[in-house]
Amino acid sequence: MSRSEIKLDKAPGVLQDLVMDTVCYSGTATTAASAHGNVDMHQYDVVLVSSSGGKDSQAQLDVLVRQADATGYDRARLVVVHCDLGRVEWAGTRELAETQAKHYGLRFIAISRPQGDLLDQVAKRGMWPSSSARYCTSDHKRGQFAKVVTQLHREAVAAGHVGVFRMVECLGLRAQESPTRAAKTPLERNARLSTATRTVDTWLPIQAWTVEQVWACIKASGVPHHEAYDLGMPRLSCVFCVLSNHAALTLAAKHNPELLDAYVAVEDKIQHTFKKGYSLRVLRDTVRAGGALQGPVTDWTM
Ligand code: SF4
Repeated sequence: MSRSEIKLDKAPGVLQDLVMDTVCYSGTATTAASAHGNVDMHQYDVVLVSSSGGKDSQAQLDVLVRQADATGYDRARLVVVHCDLGRVEWAGTRELAETQAKHYGLRFIAISRPQGDLLDQVAKRGMWPSSSARYCTSDHKRGQFAKVVTQLHREAVAAGHVGVFRMVECLGLRAQESPTRAAKTPLERNARLSTATRTVDTWLPIQAWTVEQVWACIKASGVPHHEAYDLGMPRLSCVFCVLSNHAALTLAAKHNPELLDAYVAVEDKIQHTFKKGYSLRVLRDTVRAGGALQGPVTDWTM
C-alpha cells in the first residue's frame, strides 16, 4: 500500500496557539495539549472523525471541535463515523459514540459489516484473527469506513460539488500505544481512499498525547466516557480482543459472561483456540471457579 507523505505546516501557527490555550486543560495543567501538527482544516471540504467511542476517540473529538471553533471551521463539516461492532464490543458503545457526537452538535454515522459480526465471520472462516491476520480491523473497521467516504463524496456531488472533493480522516492513534503507531506519519495522503475526483488524507491529531493528557481532556470536557474504563479496562472496542492480555481478558470475562459463552461456543465449533495456546474455555472455567485477577490490568500493544 503506497502512501505518500504530506508536509505539515511547520510555521508557528496561530491555530496551534489558539488550541493550546483552550483545549482540555482549563489552564491548570503544566503541559497543554493540542492537535498534532498545524493542519489547516480549511483545506478540506469534510473532516471525518473516526470514533470507536473509546477514550482516545473521545479526546480527539474534543480537540478537533475546539480547533474548528477557534479557526472558524463550520462544525457542520465535521462528521463522526463509528464502525459498529455489534455484540462483540462493550455494550452501549455505539450509543455512547452517538451521544458524544451529539454533545458537540455533529453529524453521526454508524456503519457495520452487513454480512454479519465478527463472531459470525470467525465461525465461517474457522479461525480467529491474530496480530498477523487482523481481518477483524480491515473488514469491520477500515472497510466500512471506506464506504462512508464514498457515501459522503456522492452526497457532495449530488449537492452540486464541482472539482476534487477534499477529505481528511482523523484517527485517535497515539504513539504511546505501540512502536508501530509511534512510527506513523501524522499527516499523509491515503492512497487507498483517494481517487481521481477526491483526495483523502489521514491525520493523527493526538498522536503525541499521553494517556494522562487524554483523561485530563475528557475530564475537562464533561462528556461521559464508557463505564468499562471505570471497571478497570484500559481499552474499549472488542470486549475480547485477540491482542489483549490475560488480566484484561479475565476482567472482561467477569463482566460479560453471556458474550464469553458465545465466544467459547465458536471456539468449540471451529476447534481453534482464541489465541495460540490460549483457550477461552479455560478462561471461562477459571472465572467460574472464582479465579481472582492476578496483578493489575495493563494496556496492550495495538
Ligand atoms: S479490538 Fe482487537 S479483536 Fe477487535 S477489531 Fe480491534 S484488533 Fe481486532
